[in-house]
Amino acid sequence: MNEKIALITGANKGIGLEIARQLGKQGMIVLVGARSLDKAEQAAAELQAEQFRAYPIKLDVTDQQDIRTAAERINTKYGKLDVLVNNAGIYVDHEGTDVDMMRRSFETNFFGAYALTISLLHLLKLSPAGRIVNQSSILGSVGTILTNEMYGRASVPAYTTSKAALNAWTAQLSIQLRDTPIKVNACHPGWVKTDMGGSGAFMEIEEGAETAVFLATLPGDGPTGGLFHKQETLPW
Ligand code: NDP
Repeated sequence: MNEKIALITGANKGIGLEIARQLGKQGMIVLVGARSLDKAEQAAAELQAEQFRAYPIKLDVTDQQDIRTAAERINTKYGKLDVLVNNAGIYVDHEGTDVDMMRRSFETNFFGAYALTISLLHLLKLSPAGRIVNQSSILGSVGTILTNEMYGRASVPAYTTSKAALNAWTAQLSIQLRDTPIKVNACHPGWVKTDMGGSGAFMEIEEGAETAVFLATLPGDGPTGGLFHKQETLPW
């Protein structure tokens, strides 16, 4: 199959929905992942109404059964996966500082992306140009936390450490996959006006999706194993 297949998690709203739209615009078949089928169907219908080839997929990234079913469906229908954007994320630090809150953050922001990716890796390896994009944050950059007063003082330990774990694993996976065509990079979208980013954020959603789309469509000689914002690398 020559057509490119892209799966985006947390694609029912916010940056994820816009990434799906922009990849659809580039001619890809987009699989719109959302933790409820209703939400996935609504978002896919919105994109279909804009003439994109978008299909819903129920995918709570913390649910191993959802992950298995999604992998089986993609295998049966397409026999490969070209692009995986691990976009689903939560920010729950304002709910307290206990261990449970820390675990919940890791469950979605790190283990969700990890579990889904390892379940889909065999399908990404069947693509001539597999691309994995891990939607991270500047707040997960340890170098930035140490050197930037504003980010260093941000009291978001669960969000920060779960994204830092995602970053570390992105680097590790890029080494593991260096003898394959697959490129794996982490992405900082910017501070974006979404339910998570809030209305005071600097960036519109269209612009917030750009970095992930850039990484999802990298050419064969493009970079792997980096943390990017707007085509620029950020320190780990
Ligand atoms: P939103 O809160 O608007 O969207 C988050 C998406 O993730 C929703 O679709 C949500 O689904 C989904 N999600 C949450 N948990 C799960 C789960 N267990 N399984 C599947 N989907 C899930 O946030 P944004 O669009 O702003 O954020 C997208 C990504 O970008 C996140 O990873 C975030 O950390 C990152 N980011 C955002 C920034 C910003 O300024 N907005 C800055 C830096 C990084 P549901 O609707 O069901 O809750």
